[in-house]
Amino acid sequence: MIFGDIMEKVKSFTLPKLPYDYNALAPYISEEQLKLHHSKHHQGYVNGANAAFEKIDKARQENADIDMKALLKDLSFNVGGHLLHSIFWENMAPAGKGGGGQPNGAIADVINKEFGSFERFKKEFSKAAATVEGSGWAALAMQPCIERPLIVQIEKHNVNLYPSFNILMAIDVWEHAYYVDYRNERPKFVDAFWNIVNWDKVNKNLSLVK
Ligand code: MN
Repeated sequence: MIFGDIMEKVKSFTLPKLPYDYNALAPYISEEQLKLHHSKHHQGYVNGANAAFEKIDKARQENADIDMKALLKDLSFNVGGHLLHSIFWENMAPAGKGGGGQPNGAIADVINKEFGSFERFKKEFSKAAATVEGSGWAALAMQPCIERPLIVQIEKHNVNLYPSFNILMAIDVWEHAYYVDYRNERPKFVDAFWNIVNWDKVNKNLSLVK
C-alpha cells in the first residue's frame, strides 16, 4: 500500500502520527501551520469519514433508507481527504535530512523519460499546483499498465482523479495548507515544497505500482 507506512488496516480511521516533529519542516512549513493542518484539518476529514461510515452502519442495522447520493459524496470527500493527507505527510521530510534535492533512482528515470528533465517536471507540476481551481491538490500518479506518469490536478479531495492510478507524490494546495506562512501567495508555498520532497518515499511508492 502506498500510504501504508503510517496507516493501519482498519475499518474506521484514526489520525496518523507524522513521521517527523511539527517544527521539522520549518522554514518551508512552520510549526504553527503544520500543527493546525495536521491536528485540526486532517483530523476533520478522519472524523468526517468515520461519521459517514457510522451513518451507513446504523442505516444497515435499522434497515433504514440512506440518501445514497449525499452520503457517498460526503464519504468520498472525507476518505479522499484522509488518504491524500496521509500520502502528503509521508512524501515530505525535513530539508537536508531526506527532504529536497534532486530525484534519484527509478523516479528520476521515470521523470526524465516523460518530461525530459527534472526542471521541466518541476515547472509543470508547480503550475498544476498553483492553478488548481479553488481548493485541491496536485499529484504525480502512475498505473501499472500505462507506461507514463500523469500529473493530476485534484479539486477538493476527489475530483479529477484517474481510476486505478496510484499517487506517488502529492502537494496540498488548500488555503489551510499555507495560509499561516504564505497568506494568499500559493506559488510561494509550491516553490518551498521542493525543499522538503522526500524522494526516497516517492521511489518507494513507485516500486509499489505493480
Ligand atoms: Mn489539507
